[in-house]
Amino acid sequence: MALISETLKRIKPSPTIAVTQKARDLKAQGRDVIGLGAGEPDFDTPDNIKNAAIEAIRRGETKYTAVDGIPELKSAIVAKFKRENGLTYETGQITVGSGGKQIIYNAMMATLNPGDEVVIPTPYWVSYPDIVLLAGGVPVFAETEMKDGFKLLPDILEKAITPNTKWLIFNSPSNPTGAAYSHDELKALTDVLKRHPHVWILADDMYEHLVYDDFQFVTPAQVEPELYERTLTMNGVSKSYCMTGWRIGYAGGPKELIGAIAKVQSQSTSNPTSISQWAAVEALNGPQGFIAEHNVVFKERRDLVVSMLNQASGIRCPTPEGAFYVYPSCAGTIGKTTPKGTLLVTDEDFVRELLEAEGVAVVQGAAFGMSPFFRISYATATSALEDACQRIQRFCGSLR
Ligand code: PLP
Repeated sequence: MALISETLKRIKPSPTIAVTQKARDLKAQGRDVIGLGAGEPDFDTPDNIKNAAIEAIRRGETKYTAVDGIPELKSAIVAKFKRENGLTYETGQITVGSGGKQIIYNAMMATLNPGDEVVIPTPYWVSYPDIVLLAGGVPVFAETEMKDGFKLLPDILEKAITPNTKWLIFNSPSNPTGAAYSHDELKALTDVLKRHPHVWILADDMYEHLVYDDFQFVTPAQVEPELYERTLTMNGVSKSYCMTGWRIGYAGGPKELIGAIAKVQSQSTSNPTSISQWAAVEALNGPQGFIAEHNVVFKERRDLVVSMLNQASGIRCPTPEGAFYVYPSCAGTIGKTTPKGTLLVTDEDFVRELLEAEGVAVVQGAAFGMSPFFRISYATATSALEDACQRIQRFCGSLR
């Protein structure tokens, strides 16, 4: 009898983690590699947050906590939703998990029956389809186009919804494109959702704070209060607060769903790390000024990368509103040959040959469900980005 389950066989390990590991391995072998694969800020966790964790250890906050979070953190999250999103939740409507990823996983495990469909706009964050598959659901892809800024259009959403649709997973600003929806763009989608009362909305607001050029972030339950009763508003401290390793994500939503999410967690990991929870209390309640400071740097890097990529032959790179990713098309390089004589047929070829020739690690669009593109994370030192973009220009210029 085969050891591995049929369910697990249908999913793949995270391709972004694989690229990051490949870059690390090459570096360890002494190769000069610039890794632009990882989705995490290069800034350190702010000191006030670190100190809150150290104090929590000293106070002895080192024991099991309530499965779905300490009351102090739930209160901080309630205040955050009110302050930043105009959303009113009670602490009984809040759940805390070990990262946003666990919240999504638990929500799908708690709600999907075999055959239930989950609408996922493409390109998507790599984990959405596989989490849905693990939970026994069926991912249904709703395609976007570069000419629309990679944003889902209302008629495409309408067509993707069937009587079996359980969820729409909505992510703005988006990983991998950086696309963020304005109030009007989102309202056009929530108008569609209002007509389909059986569809739940998982709003993945993980990159909420990472928006540039005075862009105003909005979330579905805020834009359309009618959807509040069937929306799980998910967020976390990983990206905005430079806390990827601390593993704290959270969500607000209807009590029945929040209780079901906690039930899944109670039989898997139990509470998120007690110390990280206290750090997250400080992140949400403490000074927020560093976010704007980081955004000045991120915006400069975004503009640098977009401009340099658009000077590379065969590459077209739109300017996204947020996150720390760009998603350029490499269509103009497909069909060309490298100096070594390798024909580029797919974006996977492009990415592999770029790493081989110039030591620049990016992730192929195929991993995010839309080709021929690639994703660059610009959450890395500006000098390294400049160097990497020069290498990409040189690689593209070498193709015949
Ligand atoms: N959602 C999106 C769109 C992401 O890009 C990520 C991380 O890369 C997550 C959720 C999960 O974040 P974490 O589990 O680190 O909180």
